[in-house]
Amino acid sequence: MYKMSEKPLIRADEIRERVATLAREIVDVYDYDILLSALTGAYMFTADLNREMAKAQGAKAYNKAIAFIKASSYGNSTTSSGKLQVRGLEKIDLKGKKVLMVDDIADTGTTLLGLVNLLKESGAQEVRTCVLLNKQERREVEILADFVGFEIANEFVVGYGLDYAENYRSLPEIWTLQETD
Ligand code: 5GP
Ligand code: MG
Repeated sequence: MYKMSEKPLIRADEIRERVATLAREIVDVYDYDILLSALTGAYMFTADLNREMAKAQGAKAYNKAIAFIKASSYGNSTTSSGKLQVRGLEKIDLKGKKVLMVDDIADTGTTLLGLVNLLKESGAQEVRTCVLLNKQERREVEILADFVGFEIANEFVVGYGLDYAENYRSLPEIWTLQETD
């Protein structure tokens, strides 16, 4: 059994402020063609980040595409199965495109590295990655996210899009899940 921490790890106003700053950091250095987002965990982050980037891009935002893929490796457990399944990529044309790959969290790094390799195989000219959360301590494969919202410790987190067995996704804050007996 798991229970939520008593206080959020990251409050909604802290997320809002950081996402706005992160959006400006990204558009200042990367004139991407398409934002590619990994469902379902990154849905809330993607919407907020994309809106903030569009504000920062001004008129340049009009031709920025957005598309979604479904990446899964977790099942209903809090530890990664290590196998990456990607659906929906076949419908998206990445040839010669500069891609901004957005995901919720980099943990072991397996998902992000697998995605980057896949996008390059699909003909992407350039791939840069953006994650809301990064658990550097847990890394098992060599990949650095180019843009990171928050560095966090080795804890299982939920909320702001992230789930545990499909629960908690709609919460506007990020919470830690603690094991109870
Ligand atoms: P990785 O392949 O880096 O080990 O895992 C990445 C994926 O595992 C993320 O896209 C996310 O779906 C899931 N994940 C990793 N850590 C957490 C966590 O603390 N909470 C939740 N809800 N999902 C996580
Ligand atoms: Mg995910």
